[in-house]
Amino acid sequence: MPWDKEFECMPVEEMQKLQLEKLKETIAWVEERVPFYKDKFKEAGLTAGDINSLDDISKFPVTVKDDLRDNYPFGLCAVDLKDVVRVHASSGTTGKPITGPYTQADLDQWTECMARNFTAAGVTSEDIVQNAYGHGLFTGGLGFHQGACRISATVVPTSAGMTERQIVLMQDFESTVLLCTPSYALTIAEAAEDMGVDIRKLPVRVGIFGAEPWTTGMRKEIEERMGIKAHEAFGLTELSGPGVSFDCEAQDGLHINEDHFLAEVVDPETFEPLPLGEKGELIFTSLQRRAMPMIRYRTKDITRLRREECACGRTLLKMDKLSGRTDDMLIISGVNVFPSQVESVLLEIEEVEPQYVLVVRKKGYLDHLTVRVEAKREVYNAGPEKCAEVEKKIGNRIKGLLGFSAAIQLMEPKLIERSEGKAKRIIDERPKE
Ligand code: ADP
Ligand code: ZN
Repeated sequence: MPWDKEFECMPVEEMQKLQLEKLKETIAWVEERVPFYKDKFKEAGLTAGDINSLDDISKFPVTVKDDLRDNYPFGLCAVDLKDVVRVHASSGTTGKPITGPYTQADLDQWTECMARNFTAAGVTSEDIVQNAYGHGLFTGGLGFHQGACRISATVVPTSAGMTERQIVLMQDFESTVLLCTPSYALTIAEAAEDMGVDIRKLPVRVGIFGAEPWTTGMRKEIEERMGIKAHEAFGLTELSGPGVSFDCEAQDGLHINEDHFLAEVVDPETFEPLPLGEKGELIFTSLQRRAMPMIRYRTKDITRLRREECACGRTLLKMDKLSGRTDDMLIISGVNVFPSQVESVLLEIEEVEPQYVLVVRKKGYLDHLTVRVEAKREVYNAGPEKCAEVEKKIGNRIKGLLGFSAAIQLMEPKLIERSEGKAKRIIDERPKE
């Protein structure tokens, strides 16, 4: 059963009617209160009155991360600071942080979205939830905390890090649910193996992982190593944090909380709207937030949208698991490459660990990619000849599947830095322009 059947299973037409009403309200809200939006709308010759259908949103200008940085910290705030009850900030993966202020109502809505996420993953008040997302400015820790409290689960707020202690507490408290980034889940699984603890025999049965790209191959790896079902959460600070979309028991794409977020996919270069089913950049407009609603926010995340019946009964629009963010896209020999594509190849190779990093250098005018990946212990110990053979195999597989050449460097196990939050997959050694 969904957490909030009324909205999660609402007939599409009814949902779109609701979205239109909320969209009009939100556009009017920011036009009145945020000079940045007022000026931008005016420049485009538009006002809130020009929204007559959901498609009309595509006439409005997009908002980008730099707009948030230029107006840092509260320039885009639509309410008095006295009505703001919390401020989060992005993890700053790609530069100066941006802020996310909330009114009490914004916080409550976010909590509801997280409760939907938990319920879709089969988590209930019976569960003991170990929350190993970073607590603090990052939205992961507190966002999941609120949702877990809302469904009356027992929360253990470990935050990220101190990996051995995570495992000890997981044993002592008999945690049934683990929350963290997928890369940290892998770090925990590996540390448990090193400590001689078989996580598969512990009561932990579900994970809700997110905040960074991970492939289906990585999900299977984590599920097998931990003996759990790995679910997913997606979101960004600009839109409140996790809880924008979540996967269900079907584990086939992520349902978007459409009553809160209006999704579009556009061509990343021209911003032309793309039809359902076509891959492009995700754009979101928040429909109910009041402290800092985003109008047509460019996420830089690449995916496609799907409107289809889901086995879970939810009618909410689905987005595919992300290919990656355009910031992380590399152009190697003229081919666009996301780290996740390399990851999907590596996860199919038995001889390596799922620990890798991509090094990009400039050779003449061309970008050159080196894939560093850790060998399994027995492979590494078998000597350089064996390693060279595996390197060749991976190189061929990448060339065959992805169409570009990369140098492969098999590494000794444990040499690549382990992640406690968002994994750093790219080392860019190209000279800065
Ligand atoms: P930052 O931009 O500094 O990383 P956030 O912590 O707000 O700030 O991260 C939001 C971004 O994290 C999203 O735009 C997306 O790129 C990534 N992300 C979040 N959840 C997922 C997920 N489930 N799969 C892939 N990427 C994700
Ligand atoms: Zn579903």
